Amino acid sequence: MPPVTRPHVDRVVIIGGGIVGLTTAHTLLKRGMEVVVLDAGPDRVTASRGNAGQIAPGHPPIPSPAIPPQALHMLLDRRSPLFIPPRPSLPLARWLLSFRLACREHHYRNSMRVLGAMSRLSRECFETLAEDLGPDATLSGTGLTDFWRTAQGEREAEAETAWMAQLGFETTQLSGRELRTRDPAWDEAVRGAVIHESGMCVDPECLCEALRGRISDLGGVLQHGHAATSMRRKEGLWRVTTRRGHSVEAGKLLLAAGAWSGPLARQLGVLIRMQPAKGYHLMLTMPRPPTMAGVLREAKIAVTPLGEQVRIAGTLELSGFNHRLDRSRLSQLRLGTAAFLPAAALARAGKPWCGLRPCTASGLPVVGAAAPNAWIATGHGMMGLTLATGTAAILAEDMLGESTPDWAEVLAPQVSRGVSAPRARGR
Ligand SMILES: Cc1cc2nc3c(=O)[nH]c(=O)nc-3n(C[C@H](O)[C@H](O)[C@H](O)COP(=O)(O)OP(=O)(O)OC[C@H]3O[C@@H](n4cnc5c(N)ncnc54)[C@H](O)[C@@H]3O)c2cc1C
Repeated sequence: MPPVTRPHVDRVVIIGGGIVGLTTAHTLLKRGMEVVVLDAGPDRVTASRGNAGQIAPGHPPIPSPAIPPQALHMLLDRRSPLFIPPRPSLPLARWLLSFRLACREHHYRNSMRVLGAMSRLSRECFETLAEDLGPDATLSGTGLTDFWRTAQGEREAEAETAWMAQLGFETTQLSGRELRTRDPAWDEAVRGAVIHESGMCVDPECLCEALRGRISDLGGVLQHGHAATSMRRKEGLWRVTTRRGHSVEAGKLLLAAGAWSGPLARQLGVLIRMQPAKGYHLMLTMPRPPTMAGVLREAKIAVTPLGEQVRIAGTLELSGFNHRLDRSRLSQLRLGTAAFLPAAALARAGKPWCGLRPCTASGLPVVGAAAPNAWIATGHGMMGLTLATGTAAILAEDMLGESTPDWAEVLAPQVSRGVSAPRARGR
């Protein structure tokens, strides 16, 4: 690993080597900047490595007007896709209150507009990224499909499709019969589907690996096993110190540590209402695997064929910072899939995996400048992969003093003078 000893005003130090940190490092290097990425890993539990691998432009935010009537049921039911085990936690209570406010219709519509624009930008950048990384990155633009079993599911899908059309995303509607002609794996009970043509799929592990390789080729430095604990600014340079006593100096700083960004953001005077939202995946080897990737609407499960196997991923569990596997949620993942894909019931399942999504109460990521020459990019929730390249593009423009899109203003971190600055615990 090349040593990083020389302070440099043109250097950017990035805290966090998840998909957001890696795509930003790649973009900055392509634009001629010097980059050092510090990551607390290696380990296999970060969301960026085990997600469903779906790049889904126009995907709606989590807080939506449809949620409050179901909230109590969700709180109490372990089998619900969104599960919030009751626990005494003031940050969780505050998060839930802000989340409730974000479920209002006008907030939802504004968020959809911003996420629509951001995911369109991201989708364009993924084209360029796919060319630059080559086939090893496994990025493919095959479209993503929304499958439903019920009349209610169909109504919801229609409303979302109409909204997507307003945002300029193309869709193709399929009856149940048309769907099974294309892909016979789907159960007779699946009434219909809509293909979102702009959707892409990727093996997230391969994408991260390809990015890391390219970053090194472009002269970027990746340092693993370094959990940042403090950030100080002196004489125009940021000095980031890690738990092992290692430090890096740079003219610019980006905090992109996913769900773990909160304590470090407070050192920059920014309070982010964010909860780690646990999600699970299972790799299935099944007799008649589906060829189409997408989301099972009623079950809220993502299905992604990856090579010979199929990844099923989902559930959103607000149970704090832990990687405990809840068996009942894993069996729910399997049962929910089998209702759409009967072969899933017979499938052989690999080792279960879980990871933590950085979920803001507002449903919008936090992306922008937080302090002089310091930026934050976190809180991408269920859409971190989808929005990563758009996030990187906005950050690069801002760091290089170029103008950023108007809609990005709403994502800027809210700097608060009253925020105390504890030492970050890192990971
Ligand atoms: C089951 C599941 C399925 C999902 N499916 C999709 C999908 O299909 N499409 C989609 O768009 N999104 C999906 N997501 C969401 C997506 O994975 C996340 O939003 C995204 O990975 C967040 O990326 P990140 O870089 O912000 O954070 P992370 O992936 O969490 O990366 C943060 C990095 O920061 C490092 N770090 C933490 N603390 C420190 C520190 N103190 N110092 C240095 N480094 C530190 C960590 O080691 C980690 O590498 C899914 C998530 C889950 C859990």
